[in-house]
Amino acid sequence: MVGMNRRSFTAALAGGAAVLSPRWAQARTACSALNSQAAGDADLVLLNGKIITVDARDSLAEAVAVRDGKIAFVGTTNAVRAQAGPNTKVIDLGGKCVTPGLVDSHLHVLYYGQQFRASLFDLRFPKARTKDDLLGLVAARAKVTPKGEWVVGNQGFSLSVPMMPTLAELDAVSPDHPVYVKDRSGQFGMANSRALRLAGVTSTSRDPLNAKFGRDANGEPNGLLFHYPAEQLIARSIPGYGTLNEQDVLEGQRRTLAFGYTSAQDVIVMQQAHVDLYRALARRGELRTRLYLLRYLNSEQQLDAALQAFERFTDPWLTFGGWKLAIDGGFSAGTGLMYDNSLALSNRAYPFFEQDVLNRMVLKLHKTGLQIAFHACGDRAIDMSLNAVESALNASPRDNHRHRIEHAIFPTPAALERIRKLGMVISVQPQWIAFFGAATRQLCSDALMRRYLPLRTMMNMGIPLAFGCDLPATILGEPRYAFQGAMLRRGREDYVPGPEQRLSMRDALRIHTMGSAYAAFEETTKGSIEPGKLADFVVWSHDLYGIAPRELPQLEASTTIVNGRVIER
Ligand SMILES: [Zn+2]
Repeated sequence: MVGMNRRSFTAALAGGAAVLSPRWAQARTACSALNSQAAGDADLVLLNGKIITVDARDSLAEAVAVRDGKIAFVGTTNAVRAQAGPNTKVIDLGGKCVTPGLVDSHLHVLYYGQQFRASLFDLRFPKARTKDDLLGLVAARAKVTPKGEWVVGNQGFSLSVPMMPTLAELDAVSPDHPVYVKDRSGQFGMANSRALRLAGVTSTSRDPLNAKFGRDANGEPNGLLFHYPAEQLIARSIPGYGTLNEQDVLEGQRRTLAFGYTSAQDVIVMQQAHVDLYRALARRGELRTRLYLLRYLNSEQQLDAALQAFERFTDPWLTFGGWKLAIDGGFSAGTGLMYDNSLALSNRAYPFFEQDVLNRMVLKLHKTGLQIAFHACGDRAIDMSLNAVESALNASPRDNHRHRIEHAIFPTPAALERIRKLGMVISVQPQWIAFFGAATRQLCSDALMRRYLPLRTMMNMGIPLAFGCDLPATILGEPRYAFQGAMLRRGREDYVPGPEQRLSMRDALRIHTMGSAYAAFEETTKGSIEPGKLADFVVWSHDLYGIAPRELPQLEASTTIVNGRVIER
């Protein structure tokens, strides 16, 4: 089901560059028409490879030349070698496969980097998969932490709400410390009694907007915290925790560049201060990942303030793209907003906004001329987003808005049709099919799983698709899991939800390059290896068009190149 022409490619390599299959010959012709004939030596040449260009014809080539951070020439090794001079860096690929740098449509670089702070103990998969794992980790950390100081985990554990400890159980392993732990999705967390006291959360505390404190039968807080505003209330009491810094960005950037993500759309920039953080690094030339930012807004009040103060900017490293709203929570929290609220994945759900408030907010954001992205997992949350976009477009028609749904896990067939008609983009995490497919099924039904992330249906309908790993909310964020999810739909368990929804590598790669570039209005500068585009590439351990499904778990980016520069690891 994956690449068909491995044999011809291997034969071509074995016979040397002069032996080209007809497909290669075509590719050469297609590319040379656009190649720049400008004088001057290349800064970098990649020779003797299998270059998957992801251009409109899906051409292959052998070699690429880069000048001034841009692709100058794509073609045969002989033709590209002629562009090299005495100062050109030459990389002999030795037959290795190169693709455009992956564009990630949903990656929280800042929050991902934060997870590696030494001040946080590690809960991430496979560390905390059961209640006992979680309690054991808290107890162990408390043991080495001075009494009275915070015991705080990173984001986070892989448990759904029914699997969580009780407040008494958590208190029992941490009598002398305030504790805060967070689920990997970021949609809920848990604090012990000391932490609740420090944050001032009591039986009389009102739920923050769009958020909820979990409560026992008597209305006493039970330690659970649903959605960001409730979680942030605890986080604010932890010294230094909520203050994100440049080190967090650099750590997140370093790790995700090594995975092969050369561009990332950070779709939750919580504060203007975080926009400023990215800008400061961009100004000093320290960004290596190209970033596209969406400012997250929790309320109409926040929205009005942001509209007073925001600034548009764009350059090849950093773009302010627009706005992000969350319409529901997540399935492990039970806060995915569905029409059927009896399911384990939806039985704690509540609408974050009334439809008329949402419509008013979306219209204001739409009128900025920028993009709006909606976090919407459940079918009802997706429909509420579509209602708001439809109403905004009726009031203020606009072409090419590319408003987007993030996640879109259980769209109804009617919602997909509306998305297509409205010209919206769907940004999804195929990793989740590989990693959470079986767990999601346990939270709902086989009947509902027939609507689970129907990627092939979306693609065949012509809906623009983008792939984003969603680290740190995803546990396994490397591209091999995106390809596994999209192509096999099988994860750790033998469960395959919707085998008819599988995509080919060709489709998956195109979505993860051109598709995700389109989601950020960047398809003319990124997403394919063509002259004039930015010189961002990944050199892979395997031939993407020849890799066998059983080899996918070994696939990795061996070299990442951004702006024509090899990224040091
Ligand atoms: Zn996310």
